[in-house]
Amino acid sequence: MVKDKTYQVAIVGGGMVGATLACLLADKGVSVALIDAGEPMANWPEDTYDLRVSALTLASINTFKALGVWPDVVQLGEQAVEKMFVWDHFGSGELDIDSADAGEMQMGAVVENRITVLAIWKKLQQLESCDVFTSSQLEDFNIDDNGVDINLSEGAKIRAALLVGADGSNSKIRQISGIDDYGWEYQQKALVATVRPEKSHLNTAWQRFLPEGPLALLPLRDGLISIVWTSNAQITEANLNLLDTDFCEALAEASEHQLGAFELVGARGAFPLKLQFSPEYTQQRMVLIGDAIHTIHPLAGQGANLGLKDASTLAAVVLKAHQKGRDIASQQVLRRYERQRKGDNLLMMGIMDGFKRLFGADDMLVQFVRSSGMGAVNSSTLIKNQICKYAMGL
Ligand SMILES: Cc1cc2nc3c(=O)[nH]c(=O)nc-3n(C[C@H](O)[C@H](O)[C@H](O)COP(=O)(O)OP(=O)(O)OC[C@H]3O[C@@H](n4cnc5c(N)ncnc54)[C@H](O)[C@@H]3O)c2cc1C
Repeated sequence: MVKDKTYQVAIVGGGMVGATLACLLADKGVSVALIDAGEPMANWPEDTYDLRVSALTLASINTFKALGVWPDVVQLGEQAVEKMFVWDHFGSGELDIDSADAGEMQMGAVVENRITVLAIWKKLQQLESCDVFTSSQLEDFNIDDNGVDINLSEGAKIRAALLVGADGSNSKIRQISGIDDYGWEYQQKALVATVRPEKSHLNTAWQRFLPEGPLALLPLRDGLISIVWTSNAQITEANLNLLDTDFCEALAEASEHQLGAFELVGARGAFPLKLQFSPEYTQQRMVLIGDAIHTIHPLAGQGANLGLKDASTLAAVVLKAHQKGRDIASQQVLRRYERQRKGDNLLMMGIMDGFKRLFGADDMLVQFVRSSGMGAVNSSTLIKNQICKYAMGL
């Protein structure tokens, strides 16, 4: 392990977001230390699938292509999303969007998180200016005018001009910095599972709004489907405990048999859902990105995509300062990142929370307006193309 070394940037958190930032900076010669409490999975048995998947937008895919990471993702397995079909349990409201109508081959791709993270780490290991510290936790840090001293588990110490917190929604860096977080628990859980559908998924992301929450059926490699089924804690618990065959029947019914019957592949899991955000993205020589500053409802699969935009924006402002020989961690530089990202992050959080409330409402009038509204949107190619571009992250 490298000890007592000085870097330009130390990034704590080697998830999708922190590891991408490390790649973007180290690729351009900035010296980076990437620290993570764990280590990405290097291999797995064939015919197994990660329960954590992300629908990546075209914008995220373009970032990975620019870094040369995407060919490895493709080789390990991804599934293009070409269409989206959304429908409501109430009335006849539905929305079908085709990327071809917006002049694109695909809207994005669904990739297991373990595949994306492994492909990014593979690239990182080829970059000379990046040192990775695995199985290593940030304990605490001290900031002075010129840099940050960072204490890691097992006594390791490093120093950096800039400390980046990409350490997820329970960010220790955010807590040590005394940055407040706001938000609420949704009193909902997302049940995740991989299933084999009787009919082809048609490269389509399916989403049905049920009274208890949305059910997403995302197309996965090998003709499979990754489901994210949001309900209150009791229903989720009951669905987790059903026999495999009963669970598959319940799922077929909940999805109105659009994809026929299902066969379960592997185990089921569940995640509690919350909305959380911090109004302060930066302090002296410290900056937060990804879930460390925003955690949103997964109903439109945007959390990681927002974090990847944070990483790209932060990399751009830091690299600009680096190229001009300026202090990469000045408040001028870090505030530029904050200004560029806060509006977009808050907008997406608001939209997701609004959708969650709109589709969760059991008031008959709201249900009627919602259903009619979906019908009206569905008949407008112009609006649908705008939604499509937004879903692509463009
Ligand atoms: C059910 C579900 C479905 C979702 N689907 C989608 C989707 O389709 N599309 C999408 O864009 N988003 C989706 N999301 C959101 C997405 O998963 C997250 O936004 C994303 O993983 C956040 O990435 P991150 O790198 O910021 O944080 P994390 O993935 O949480 O990574 C944080 C890293 O920091 C490390 N760490 C933490 N503390 C320390 C410490 N003290 N020292 C060292 N290391 C530390 C951890 O080990 C971890 O590797 C979904 C979320 C859920 C719950």
